[in-house]
Amino acid sequence: MVRNVSLLAALAASTIAFPAVAQQTRFDPAIGRLRDAALKDQVAWDIVEGLTTEIGPRPDGSPQQARAREWGMAKLRSLGFQNVRIETYQLDTWVRGLESAEVVSPYPQPLRLTALGNSGATPPDGLTLPIVFFPGIDDLRAAPDGSLKGKIAFVSNTMQRTMDGSSYGSQGAARRQGPNIAARKGASAIVIRSIGTDHGRGPHAGVTNFEPGVTPIPAAALSVADAANLERMVKRGKPVTLHLLLTPKRVGLRESGNVVAEVPGSDPAAGVVLIGGHLDSWDLGTGAIDDASGVGITTAAAKMLLDSGKPRRTIRVVWFGDEETGGFGGAAYAKAHAGERHAIAAESDFGADRVWRFQTNLPDSARPVVDRLTAALTPIGVIRGLGVANGGTDVEPVLATGVAGIDLNQDGLRYFDYHHTPEDTIDVIDVEQLRQNVAAWTAMLAVVANAPEEIGPMQIKK
Ligand code: ZN
Ligand code: ZN
Repeated sequence: MVRNVSLLAALAASTIAFPAVAQQTRFDPAIGRLRDAALKDQVAWDIVEGLTTEIGPRPDGSPQQARAREWGMAKLRSLGFQNVRIETYQLDTWVRGLESAEVVSPYPQPLRLTALGNSGATPPDGLTLPIVFFPGIDDLRAAPDGSLKGKIAFVSNTMQRTMDGSSYGSQGAARRQGPNIAARKGASAIVIRSIGTDHGRGPHAGVTNFEPGVTPIPAAALSVADAANLERMVKRGKPVTLHLLLTPKRVGLRESGNVVAEVPGSDPAAGVVLIGGHLDSWDLGTGAIDDASGVGITTAAAKMLLDSGKPRRTIRVVWFGDEETGGFGGAAYAKAHAGERHAIAAESDFGADRVWRFQTNLPDSARPVVDRLTAALTPIGVIRGLGVANGGTDVEPVLATGVAGIDLNQDGLRYFDYHHTPEDTIDVIDVEQLRQNVAAWTAMLAVVANAPEEIGPMQIKK
């Protein structure tokens, strides 16, 4: 909880060691005032509240997501943004169907699960087959080819609670790659333990991918509690048989799109500052922390700049479409805006808890910008990281062209308790931490959008 900003500043100052004083002489105090005004922001909360109340879940390619785009257009116009528009593209759409599972023997009982995005379907009356248990993805990889014929693979993982969310990268392989590997080894279906740090019965949705030429098999995530229960059954030593029913389907191409809005700058040649989050969500919750909050935070920060005079650079806010099933909105944006000069690209897609660190991939020549960012962010408890910014799914295609990135890293300790679950609702958002995010983004935008230095396109520093 961010209740006491000066305490946070003291804490941050005591844990970092770099010479900030000299650079702070060039830091404009007006930026500090704008940042602190953002600590009282209401816009981000209003966007999250509005999207989750008036639209709800926004699955990729769905009518709800289309409604959300219209909602976004109206909202952004009412806030005073310019050039508000939807940039459309076509999306090959996967749609969830029925989903249920139960242990048939030796301990009959129902299990809670959800189909993974891109999952294949079982026959209409389901499958009843024995399971083969793998403690982790590497155990599945080691299974002999053909050994899973007529079986349901059951893959667990050891998801850890980490500030930077790094365990999602390593343990998430069970979801992202497990189904493809199981299919190649002949499995009839796969269930995994949800990629999550909770111990509840709400499964964590998420996408999986099958290589070209591999026929998708039914693939689902059990809730963490149900997966743990199933593991206990396996350890009792008797063969375990499951009945599994999943009826998702592909429905072909549908129109989707990115919602785009701008704060026009005074110097078009200085490049666009691209920020945003993703408008789509999984369908079990209402997509509050993933990612109505990112949309709300970045929009609220841009609104602070909009209301404080014309920035040098145009700030472009994008509510990206279809991040969840493959980053299609980000890819469509990069394609539509190829060749247009961008100074910076940054996204917010890690919940609504406070920003604790920032990182960039700016070259040494942009050191004054990074020093001013440090001066602007330290007072709200944000430290300068030693790593390199790598963006996220939505801005990755833009960063890949050589545009510089800035990451405002959020505290991920409780993110994977709720990520992609039925509990991803506004109820888990702490408004004070949400506001601290808006303040951090406002400070970042005020520094970057008005920097007199040239920023990008430039060599990305490794
Ligand atoms: Zn997300
Ligand atoms: Zn997500």
